[in-house]
Amino acid sequence: MQIGPHQVVIERKRTKHLYLKIKNATQVHVSAPRQWPHEDIVAIIESRSDWITEQQQRFAERPELASAPLVDGAMIPYRGRNYRLALRQGASKVTIVDDEIIVQLAQPDDESAVTQRLERWYRSQLKQQISELLLHWQPIMQVQASDFGVRKMKTRWGSCNIRTKKIWLNFDLVKKSPQSLEYVVVHELTHLYERYHNARFYALMDKFLPDWSERRHRLNHNE
Ligand SMILES: [Zn+2]
Repeated sequence: MQIGPHQVVIERKRTKHLYLKIKNATQVHVSAPRQWPHEDIVAIIESRSDWITEQQQRFAERPELASAPLVDGAMIPYRGRNYRLALRQGASKVTIVDDEIIVQLAQPDDESAVTQRLERWYRSQLKQQISELLLHWQPIMQVQASDFGVRKMKTRWGSCNIRTKKIWLNFDLVKKSPQSLEYVVVHELTHLYERYHNARFYALMDKFLPDWSERRHRLNHNE
């Protein structure tokens, strides 16, 4: 059944507690005590909605760079599309030509060297894109992040330190669509107004980015 944004399978069991299990990027499995009223189960799932979404992001992130061998001809994600990886020998550089990402380096057969070179390129591309988004959005939103960084995160797309005003974006966003990246940047900047995901927070998101929930849905369903 559908509860809020979640597809939920409820199983009644001889248990005292309710157990939530995230099966994949779209489905939640719940074991609940036999005697519990249905509304109570729904209420608990609703109250854990943010947590469920975060857990599902882990699944949505797969399959990822780490799992696919980076050999010539492999398909790799960038900005919400798949590109063919072309490995060439030569002076170190990465270029995009049509639907190919061409990685040129001294030892194109060395997979860890390819991984490192590609990650370095991903990181610099993502940083450039984030800088542009900040330049665009900060004057509109009238907030200012003190700094931003990119790092690998297992469970979230971004975070914001309210005290230092520094925002962090997940490295894997480089593989997602520009619309998804923009959504996460605006979300983190909104935290400079409001720390919690409360009504005020969502009202601000509605104002700045009216289609934010659609974008969040796409991001969490790996589109
Ligand atoms: Zn948030």
